[in-house]
Amino acid sequence: MAFEAVLDYLVEQGWVPKRSRQRLDSTHVRGLLSAMSRLECVRETLRLFLEDVEAAGFLPETWAAYWNRYVETKPDQRLKAPVLEALFAQAGQDMLVIQKETAGNDALVKRPSFALLQRVFLENYTPDPQGNAQKTRAQPTGAVHNPHEPEAQWSSKSTTKDKTWVGYKVQVCETVQEQPRAAGEPTANFLTSMVTQNAPASDKAGMAEVLAEQQGLGLSAPCVLYVDGAYVSTAALDEAREQGRELRGPAPASPDRGKVFTVEAFDVQVEQRHAICPGAQRSSNCSRLESQSTGQVDFRIEWSQRVCSDCPLRRQCVSEGQNHRTLVVGSLHSLLQGRRREMKTDAFKKEMHRRNGIEGTQSELVRGYGLRQARYRGQAKVRLQNYLIGAACNIRRLFRRLTWLATQACGGGAVDLPTPAS
Ligand code: SF4
Repeated sequence: MAFEAVLDYLVEQGWVPKRSRQRLDSTHVRGLLSAMSRLECVRETLRLFLEDVEAAGFLPETWAAYWNRYVETKPDQRLKAPVLEALFAQAGQDMLVIQKETAGNDALVKRPSFALLQRVFLENYTPDPQGNAQKTRAQPTGAVHNPHEPEAQWSSKSTTKDKTWVGYKVQVCETVQEQPRAAGEPTANFLTSMVTQNAPASDKAGMAEVLAEQQGLGLSAPCVLYVDGAYVSTAALDEAREQGRELRGPAPASPDRGKVFTVEAFDVQVEQRHAICPGAQRSSNCSRLESQSTGQVDFRIEWSQRVCSDCPLRRQCVSEGQNHRTLVVGSLHSLLQGRRREMKTDAFKKEMHRRNGIEGTQSELVRGYGLRQARYRGQAKVRLQNYLIGAACNIRRLFRRLTWLATQACGGGAVDLPTPAS
């Protein structure tokens, strides 16, 4: 594999240490597909199935009406909403009948186009007890949005869902140069991972894949890994600590409790089973809570009603309807608390500048190599595309670096290489 071969060379030649500081972030890759409405998606799925069956010589004469409806007819998407809704309902009903009529017919049932039809049906309709296909309110996560690229999935980059895409996600990891660069000096950082995921996959899962991939490539886990808040959790910090590496990134904020103090206002000593509140009062009780289903252990820390009732901070601390303040924290809360305190220091803010460089690398990959847009369909091919982009970027960075070093040795000016076509 090209990416692996280039990375092996960089390790052999000492450009990439086996164990190094690295930074990691993800970005989205749009799938090679056109946007479709749900109606277009189900109708196109039916069309592809019918054409596939017809090409194989299995199209029953009784399906002539379906052929006419889905292969030879294309409704105008500007039709009024009730008409489009009726067409959507009819497509669902036709899918349901087709599935019933193909039951037991192995020549049809075993075709991938039939499996796709079944999947698209279940993602858009529910059969009711009367045998009718009812439209589901929304498609589930991972639903097919275009039957020509069924592996591309929908995801959103924001909680408001205003930045969405259908496609994939790629985790980009690179080494972090220890010394600041001189003016005009090309980067000495190289990509160490290009992990392709489904679009809705979490960054924490992506980080686990990156570490596993690097191990498979003969690299040790990064001694320090700079990340953003999407990768940081108590479990991730604990795992990094257990494995003797550092995960450097901001901890997630504690849940907003409205007008009252969040857990961040308290000094929690969970190992000693007590905490000090913003009113400088020590907690009066600590109970161990263990979830029977998950085994997760939490601790509920409480202040007595007597102490809280006389406290001048009571209105800022105790929610309406409660008599006294309680906190529930995990058994590893100290890790989160420590990171949240560290985040307020100038040293931490300065250290996080090392993470920010990954944004520039992603911009380089998007603008210079077309990372943002898949050129192929299916995750396997998109993964290959991303690896090739990573390999090309590393080769180009190496050439830039070698050229610069050579010109420095000669005392001449830096030689620029041509920019690749986007
Ligand atoms: S209300 Fe209770 S827990 Fe809150 S600051 Fe006052 S004494 Fe402490």
